[in-house]
Amino acid sequence: MARKKIVAGNWKMNMTPSQAVELVNTLKPLVVSDDVEVVYCVPAIDIVPVVEAVKGSNVTVGAENMYFEDKGAYTGEISAEMLVDAGVKYVIIGHSERRDYFKEDDALLNKKVKKALEAGLVPILCCGESLEQREMGVTLDWIRLQIKSDLQGVSASQVAGMVIAYEPIWAIGTGKTATTEQAQEVCKAIRDTIAEIYDASTADAVRIQYGGSVNAANANELFSQPDIDGGLVGGASLKADFGKIVNYK
Ligand code: PEP
Repeated sequence: MARKKIVAGNWKMNMTPSQAVELVNTLKPLVVSDDVEVVYCVPAIDIVPVVEAVKGSNVTVGAENMYFEDKGAYTGEISAEMLVDAGVKYVIIGHSERRDYFKEDDALLNKKVKKALEAGLVPILCCGESLEQREMGVTLDWIRLQIKSDLQGVSASQVAGMVIAYEPIWAIGTGKTATTEQAQEVCKAIRDTIAEIYDASTADAVRIQYGGSVNAANANELFSQPDIDGGLVGGASLKADFGKIVNYK
């Protein structure tokens, strides 16, 4: 079965609730597509108004983070159940900014992935190498390690429904996009790793995005690669250009 492309915006720490609703309304006519699933991953405080604002459109809503515990004394955190109850479908887990600034490691991310799935959320699991790792020639080893660690104890059927985002850290927010060949090579390596850990049909079903300075000019070439099923888009998701990325063909 052909995988449906998925283009997700990662708004990061941008947009107040009222700005968020304005952006949703501006983008509404621009992101209409039958072929591409469209997701806005928004700051926690924007979730409720954005879920309301996208009603009746083809857009679904994601969170940018969550905690793995069910409830309790975890000041400042948000549970999977809270996200589901608010109407969230996707959750970004392991974005490189969280791995770096908030010291989230693979053991923690594995717990988050499992909790998200248990609650009925679809994780968008991020992985990616630093420039130093790429220059040392260890990119594929590193990505395989991240994927294997983050998916410990996750079943084949759960993985089949997930999204994995390959985001080279050196390409995020820098304006430096991986070449099409680099992006395809790593996305294929991720799919091969899933086939190795699970089986060919799971690898065939899982959707793998590329992220890192995706824009209206490079989306078509990137998303046309055999193992790239769409993109995780930061900066360009806050502009009208996002509509051109969704309608990349
Ligand atoms: C991201 O935040 O996931 C991202 C890819 O950002 P940008 O598109 O701005 O590089």
